[in-house]
Amino acid sequence: MSPKLRVAVIGAGLGGAAAAALLQKAGYPTQVYEQAPEFSRLGAGIHLGPNVMKVMRQIGIEGQLESMGSHPDYWFSRDGVSGDYQSRIPLGEFAKREYGAAYITVHRGDLHALMVEALDPSQLHFDKRLTSVDDTGREVIMRFADGSTETADLVVGADGVNSRIRETLLGEEDPTYSGWIAHRAIIDAEKLKAYDLDFEQCVKWWSPDKHMMVYYVTGDQHEYYYVTGVKTPDWDHAASFVDSSKEEMREIFHDYHPVVQALIDCTESVTKWPLLERNPLPIWHKGRLVLLGDACHPMKPHMAQGAAMAIEDAAVLVRSLEAIGAEHYTDAFELYKTNRFERASRVQQVSHDNTWLRHDEDPAWVFAHDVTTQELKSP
Ligand code: FAD
Repeated sequence: MSPKLRVAVIGAGLGGAAAAALLQKAGYPTQVYEQAPEFSRLGAGIHLGPNVMKVMRQIGIEGQLESMGSHPDYWFSRDGVSGDYQSRIPLGEFAKREYGAAYITVHRGDLHALMVEALDPSQLHFDKRLTSVDDTGREVIMRFADGSTETADLVVGADGVNSRIRETLLGEEDPTYSGWIAHRAIIDAEKLKAYDLDFEQCVKWWSPDKHMMVYYVTGDQHEYYYVTGVKTPDWDHAASFVDSSKEEMREIFHDYHPVVQALIDCTESVTKWPLLERNPLPIWHKGRLVLLGDACHPMKPHMAQGAAMAIEDAAVLVRSLEAIGAEHYTDAFELYKTNRFERASRVQQVSHDNTWLRHDEDPAWVFAHDVTTQELKSP
């Protein structure tokens, strides 16, 4: 048997870490290059639906995530002002039974740390910002900001919304500002005990031009988290996020329910982020280069499925390489795109429309999907 091709993954975010973990498990010598000098526990949460938990099972961290996360019994949607219930989507035991895995909410930093721990530490390189790639036809030469050069047989661009690999394939083009921003804050749940209010495990408060999604990010329910979506015509900051304030939150959500007012009162620090998008890309791969996650389909986070799509991509990419043989990488990459394009584009669209679970609907097309066993359709 010929030796497995050498793979480089650019970016150790959630998609890159999933791809690298699965590639290493499948026996590919896989190096990971991440621009950040280290990762910190940034104040943010994330939903992991059953569709993602099935990939986590394959990576071998499903049990740890289940212990670490909060397990909401329902996703509630409520009118932001009156508090009336608009939908009650059953999760908890129902999700395990009907969709084949748990639905959890976790701290993004805890999830990321666990995923990075699943990688071979000797193959993970921090402080390595890719500046250019050159596919010579026989291999790929990667150049980094620190002046170093590395080579690989295949390169996975998991380098996020401003991907260098995307730029190499498709040319320079900034992502589009969606006209929406998100605020993010973690709240010490101890503070909520002062209120005679019910702080539900997973609830989205809605109105036409704004919303607030709220959930616990730890299994012991010590940390509560909110992430907003607020229609905002312009974003004038160069940074990927800036500080917001309690006062700004009060002003924006002044008409919202007392539960939301209590969350704002308990806020210690809050950041705000521009929400960026791209239209579905015509090219996901070329030669020895292939894209995944936000590098090829960045979306508004309004379905809580952006990282989920990156992680699903990773699983299908590795399955496609295994099914076809990595030496036939063009066919393998095409098989991967064929099996991901429609789903990722649909999720991008629903996220853009911000309609997900606003009213009662069947979420099975998202949650029951199993990328680890789905039959791979030929291109
Ligand atoms: P990223 O996470 O962006 O990772 C890219 C990595 O590449 C980074 O570590 C970066 O440092 C590195 N990198 C970039 N350029 C280079 C370079 N030149 N060289 C080397 N390294 C490089 N998704 C969900 O599934 N559920 C949620 O609940 C959810 N909530 C969200 C809330 C908000 C407010 C936002 C903004 C997003 C949310 N998402 C959610 C979406 C999710 O965060 C992204 O879709 C996901 O992080 C994409 O993963 P990725 O690995 O493709 O990219």
